[in-house]
Amino acid sequence: MESERPAKRARQDQKTVALPILAFREEIVRAVRQHRVVVLVGETGSGKTTQVPRFLYEAAVATRPGSIAVTQPRRIAAISVAHRVASEMGCEVGDLVGYHVRFLNRTSSKTKLKYMTDGMLVRESAAGGAHAGINGSSIVVLDEAHERGINTDVLLGLVKLALEEDKPPGLRVVVMSATIHAAPFVNFFGGSKEVKLVKVPGRQHPVQVFYTPAPEPDIIEAALISVLQLHLTRPAGDVLVFLPGQDDIESLQRLLEEKQEMLIKERQENPTKRVVDQQGGLSTSSWPTYEKVQNLLVRPIYASLPFDQQELVFQPSPPGCRKVILATNIAETSITIPGIRYVIDTGLVKLKMTNPHTGVEMLRTVETSQASALQRAGRAGREAPGEVFRLYVESEYHKMPVQTPAEILRCEMAEVYMQLKALGVAKVVGFPLVDKPPREALEKAAHFLCRIGALDTRDDLTDLGRKLATMPVSPLYAHCLHVSFEFECTAEILSIVAMLSADAQIFITSKKERDGAKAKAFHHEDGDHLCLLSAFSQWKKHQHQKAFASQNGLNHAALEKSVTIRNQLKDVLHQAWGASQISSCGGPKNWMTVRRCLLKGLFTQTARRDEVNQNSYRTFLSRQEARLHPSSVLHRRQPPPPCVVYTELFVTAKSYLRTVTEVDPAWLPELCPRFFSTG
Ligand code: ADP
Ligand code: MG
Repeated sequence: MESERPAKRARQDQKTVALPILAFREEIVRAVRQHRVVVLVGETGSGKTTQVPRFLYEAAVATRPGSIAVTQPRRIAAISVAHRVASEMGCEVGDLVGYHVRFLNRTSSKTKLKYMTDGMLVRESAAGGAHAGINGSSIVVLDEAHERGINTDVLLGLVKLALEEDKPPGLRVVVMSATIHAAPFVNFFGGSKEVKLVKVPGRQHPVQVFYTPAPEPDIIEAALISVLQLHLTRPAGDVLVFLPGQDDIESLQRLLEEKQEMLIKERQENPTKRVVDQQGGLSTSSWPTYEKVQNLLVRPIYASLPFDQQELVFQPSPPGCRKVILATNIAETSITIPGIRYVIDTGLVKLKMTNPHTGVEMLRTVETSQASALQRAGRAGREAPGEVFRLYVESEYHKMPVQTPAEILRCEMAEVYMQLKALGVAKVVGFPLVDKPPREALEKAAHFLCRIGALDTRDDLTDLGRKLATMPVSPLYAHCLHVSFEFECTAEILSIVAMLSADAQIFITSKKERDGAKAKAFHHEDGDHLCLLSAFSQWKKHQHQKAFASQNGLNHAALEKSVTIRNQLKDVLHQAWGASQISSCGGPKNWMTVRRCLLKGLFTQTARRDEVNQNSYRTFLSRQEARLHPSSVLHRRQPPPPCVVYTELFVTAKSYLRTVTEVDPAWLPELCPRFFSTG
């Protein structure tokens, strides 16, 4: 019965021949033929993401036309994997294999394997249309389901409803997970009678675990020392360091590169001298001489790194060189890099969290779960026995939560609420979810959407709400774009929203300069949004030149990305919103209009200065106390502005408002009379 294409199978390239999943090809194909839902559990690196969609395509499993949609929680994984699979299958990205992530669509009518973010599939489904979303798919593969990202959970609910209604008929669902905790998925789809569970055993070598004897006060310093000690004393093999965020990665990269320069210098000057111990200043007989020390090749990887640089992590290290990869938890399960023998784990991760008291969503650095710690350690033992150095004490491990709670339980729900409404879900409270968010979180989301006029008192989307839902940015930014028409500054707001959505810093600031203000040339004293706008328009005036960007401390790649995003948002304004023209308020002398528009659009994110403590602000909705972030142009202003709008509330040990613009307190009652009274 198998309608496989042997010629294609034979072309399987060498790198994939040994993948454990290949032995399960027939079983997986049969399972999907016979069951509407298959849960596939397999160790990270076993070949799920790159091979399973291809199996299903080559065996022509689908009973209905449409593409095989494979969803990833992260856009970088969707893009990277699509490239990999396209090259394994010998085609160009955008042909048979493509990807669709927010602001980037590389698919065509020929595309059969469509890698996408789960958020994109939710959005496509909400937007409707015969060929979009779940309706346009023959098989939906939900990858990395164990991560339990909010969009994965929503998608699980959507495919469950689709299966119940048999719409589209013949739909098949494959849920892929890297951990053995598959029971919640099996139960969610009706238990083991309905769902076929397939397990692919991993090929894990033993990994020896080391802890620090005492807690580490400075995690970057501790990581630096660990990398160097390991480099000087351990046999060949690449190193993977898990750090919480981009900032930490950049700091460690800088420090390691400095050390590297020092080692090279010593090698030239004192080749036969023994390396000096970093801490005690003593050299020991077990340490190598400088001439024996290999080079370090440092490669960062995090979500907002440009794609060409992401690809570098996969390149094998040149002979005589040890590759050190500095990664966020992106390398925990969604990306597998060959050659890793050593893992250094800070035990920290950045997670989106909502403060249960204030309802404010923020990115927080927190300790990982035991499940994450095990996954991270496992990365060292994929090809041979390995070692993991945990930069925390052993008792800390036992105090960690067993698993990270699903994002939907700790996340702001407004965007999801609006998407579900746009999908025609009558009662969001009754929508099938593996884990139900707290009722208050849903109520808060509904309340917020009412405030911006997206939802009416009967809990139905308004015309405005339906309009906002078509815009691929947060409801708040969409609202700001909507308001911009009234102020006739849509061109300016488009640029600002595009830059804020680019997931990368426009201004390059080294840590030293961070106390200082924005690059002088773009300084605009009224606020950071206007600095962004100023940078964008001057870069545009200079024909988007890379040289102009680098001379002026601007991140060229981020600016280019903003242009792409801006064009897409503009298309939505024309097509879905029916805007015939995009008006501009003119140059910087008219930018008060932009500030007024920002206030009306983002009024839920205003903050007032404290009467007593002049450096402290209190946010309007959540009553959170926060300061202006040192990177803001308003930070040094004396006295500080009495009232601001902000686009980021940033909570570390202290709370900061980042990307802030001054507004006149008198505008509050004038522009938002329903929410701010006079006086
Ligand atoms: P899983 O989804 O089960 O974690 P994958 O299908 O992602 O596994 O990966 C299978 C293998 O393909 C891994 O050994 C990985 O190292 C390799 N691989 C994946 N992407 C790339 C890439 N871009 N370059 C080189 N090797 C890759
Ligand atoms: Mg995978």
